[in-house]
Amino acid sequence: MLWRAPRTVVRRVVGVTLCWATLVGVAIAGLRPRWVDVLAFAAFVALGGFAVVVAGRLGADLTVSPAARHDLLATWTVAVAVLLPPFYPTVIGLPLCWLAGRADPIRPPHLRMFHAAALGIAGFCASSVHLLLSPTRGPFTVEGLVGSGSAALAFLSAVAVYPLVAGLPGVGMARSGRGDGLDAWLGGAPSGADVHRPAGRPARAPRRARRELVPARAAEICSSIVVAVLWAASPFLMLAVTPPVLLLQRSLLHADLLLAARSDAKTRLANAAYWHQVAEREIGRAARTGRPLSVLLVDIDHFKRVNDRFGHLIGDVILLAVADTLRATARPRDLVGRFGGEEFVILLTEAGREHALDIAERIRRQVAGTRCRLDGRPPLSVTVSVGVATQDGPPGDLSALIARADTALYRAKADGRNRVRLADPLCAPA
Ligand code: GH3
Ligand code: MG
Ligand code: MG
Repeated sequence: MLWRAPRTVVRRVVGVTLCWATLVGVAIAGLRPRWVDVLAFAAFVALGGFAVVVAGRLGADLTVSPAARHDLLATWTVAVAVLLPPFYPTVIGLPLCWLAGRADPIRPPHLRMFHAAALGIAGFCASSVHLLLSPTRGPFTVEGLVGSGSAALAFLSAVAVYPLVAGLPGVGMARSGRGDGLDAWLGGAPSGADVHRPAGRPARAPRRARRELVPARAAEICSSIVVAVLWAASPFLMLAVTPPVLLLQRSLLHADLLLAARSDAKTRLANAAYWHQVAEREIGRAARTGRPLSVLLVDIDHFKRVNDRFGHLIGDVILLAVADTLRATARPRDLVGRFGGEEFVILLTEAGREHALDIAERIRRQVAGTRCRLDGRPPLSVTVSVGVATQDGPPGDLSALIARADTALYRAKADGRNRVRLADPLCAPA
């Protein structure tokens, strides 16, 4: 309802799809159809389709979004790229992304087409590199894949080319998983995060989420090597390889579940329980080391009016936009949590009074300057009031620190809102 594809996104989708269609034409021109290839292709579509459907079901009753589930699709598509002529890896994305779309109905159709095209481009490139470098040039038996040094080099080069092409800016890893690669690039998720972002500017995934993708990608590519060699030895060996791949898919869900347990579903910030757990640990560490630590309590001003005027759904979009602004404005090491309702809490490690005031003021200004573009309405913005409390030196307890920040927040509200107030009455307000 609130999300519309920006023009740059449409251009990117059209560009990638046209490039893919050209490659399909080239691949068809060079195709010499063989029944054995068609059967192998059908088998890999079935295996990949099964992986996609399982990924859709895994964690479906939990708060993990469909886009965030790993389907390990490359396990099967890379194998197709190194075993079959270029036509097959170029088109395998079509049935698989159609199935992925069924498992994830909120994914817009243009994004599904983009995924299919991205898989196809990566598959075509990997397959072509394999054919160019391989001494046997197929059909690929175990001997043809790894029988000699040059065969193995061609095989591994093709496997390496696939993620490289799929990861190119503008192509993006198809079914990137975790919803932070391609989806973010395209702004495909209908979230408030995209509503207030300048049109066409790609979102960057949080660094931690990007780091977590690396082992998943590595596991995906390694399993594709195993699948290709086993298939070349005997297609019946797929019966032995499918259960471990499914198990791998399941184990990757563990990280997603951990993240879901720690985050607030609406704003994707730390939830109150997790924030407290980390804050208790950090306050102990700060007391031991004598380093300063500060807490910011941030409350949206007159938020009830926003709900009353625009409705709770728009209210939720604004809430998410503010949450994103807080996360983007705080330092990477700061922990931003949702305290409850329209209140947020930020833990600033190694930040004394002055530094905390600086950050709080930056946050206040940033939120006030953020315009939420909503369909058919004038841009909307809100302000926040911030209470700052610092513990520098003597050991304190977390509840006392939060209580002081809360008192400062009340003062900010009483003084007219859209301001920052420090808990220490000796310091001048910002
Ligand atoms: P003040 O400037 O004094 O903070 O005024 P306020 O209206 O922000 O504060 P008040 O405590 O009167 O109201 C808070 C509002 O926040 C009421 C509630 O409906 C809204 N709210 C709390 N949680 C959510 C939420 O998850 N989504 C939406 N849309 N609204 C929420
Ligand atoms: Mg409020
Ligand atoms: Mg409040």
